[in-house]
Amino acid sequence: MSSNLSVKRICEYCGNTFTAKTTVARFCGMKCNSRHGKHRVRQLKIKASEIEVKQTVALGLSAWL
Ligand SMILES: [Zn+2]
Repeated sequence: MSSNLSVKRICEYCGNTFTAKTTVARFCGMKCNSRHGKHRVRQLKIKASEIEVKQTVALGLSAWL
């Protein structure tokens, strides 16, 4: 049995190599992890606002009918 959990991985955000303690690690540190998370949240918010605008336009049109 091996308890060697030092795995060399490449950060998905900045591309740097780092030593991960778990096989599920995707980022070199909390900084890249949170930055990547914020980026995803922003993209989701943009999509949400697009839907909101469409709904507002649809509501505005129905108010005129
Ligand atoms: Zn990184």
